[in-house]
Amino acid sequence: MSTRAEQYAVRVCAREQISPHLIRLRLAGRAPDWFPSTGIPDEWVGLIVPGQYQVRYYTVRGLAGAEIVLDVVVHEMGLVTEWASHDCVGEHAIITEPKGSYAPPQDAEWQILAGDLTAMPAIAQIIESTELPTKVLAEVADDLPDYLPTGAEVTWLSPPHAGSALSAAVESIAWPDGVGYFWMAGESGQMRAIRKYLMRERRGTAYDVMGYWRRSASRQPRAVDPGPIWRAGKSAGRTDEEIWAAYDAARDNSDSAARST
Ligand SMILES: Cc1cc2nc3c(=O)[nH]c(=O)nc-3n(C[C@H](O)[C@H](O)[C@H](O)COP(=O)(O)OP(=O)(O)OC[C@H]3O[C@@H](n4cnc5c(N)ncnc54)[C@H](O)[C@@H]3O)c2cc1C
Repeated sequence: MSTRAEQYAVRVCAREQISPHLIRLRLAGRAPDWFPSTGIPDEWVGLIVPGQYQVRYYTVRGLAGAEIVLDVVVHEMGLVTEWASHDCVGEHAIITEPKGSYAPPQDAEWQILAGDLTAMPAIAQIIESTELPTKVLAEVADDLPDYLPTGAEVTWLSPPHAGSALSAAVESIAWPDGVGYFWMAGESGQMRAIRKYLMRERRGTAYDVMGYWRRSASRQPRAVDPGPIWRAGKSAGRTDEEIWAAYDAARDNSDSAARST
């Protein structure tokens, strides 16, 4: 099985500042019907910005004709952060083929979605494209009253120390009865702790908990591509939980390798 992801050249058609830390980019491909959407609500693509070879990953926040929409969180520093922070309209970038993880049980009666600002695009997509009764736990510093589509019961948590409010909120969820699904994305260390908590306390609940970014004091040396790990895991019959844990481990190895060089 090939582990090389397809790549597509795109041009930035529009850039809009949605909130202090969130920028919306509209990207158009060169050919009609160029984007092979998976239709999975939390589908993501790799983004390679001009002059770079490193990949960062972004959720497809929408598809509008020939354009795909990415909502990019800007941090204090970062490769895509720096690029998206300047007027990049008209510039060319590369995106990789989309993948997705969202997979509730077929008989799910409810879903709970949780995450920080980087997870908001996926949470918005999931709310928009599914009909399950939905509760959301959102930990964001920006004021985003209209960002999430209507229809979900949203609890906004302000981040006193990044991540702590979210962990506490997950541990005090009043889980509904019946079959349901828990989806969460955010900082990797925190997601790992939440996976352990769910394994211990919620064995019967289906969940996907994804490390979307890693806390570090400097620009990430090299992003590990979740695409090949995802494809190899699926073909080996691994669960999404095992696949995302393998992704975390690969990023740990990549960090130690970078530190020892
Ligand atoms: C499947 C998937 C889907 C994702 N979807 C989105 C999305 O839709 N929108 C989005 O904005 N991000 C999303 N992310 C997260 C995004 O890929 C990372 O935040 C990315 O590392 C940011 O790249 P950068 O080049 O700006 O910063 P980097 O060069 O990667 O990092 C620079 C510095 O910023 C810190 N940093 C990186 N990310 C964060 C963060 N989120 N919060 C605080 N500090 C951070 C790093 O620790 C480092 O110190 C997704 C990740 C995955 C795996």
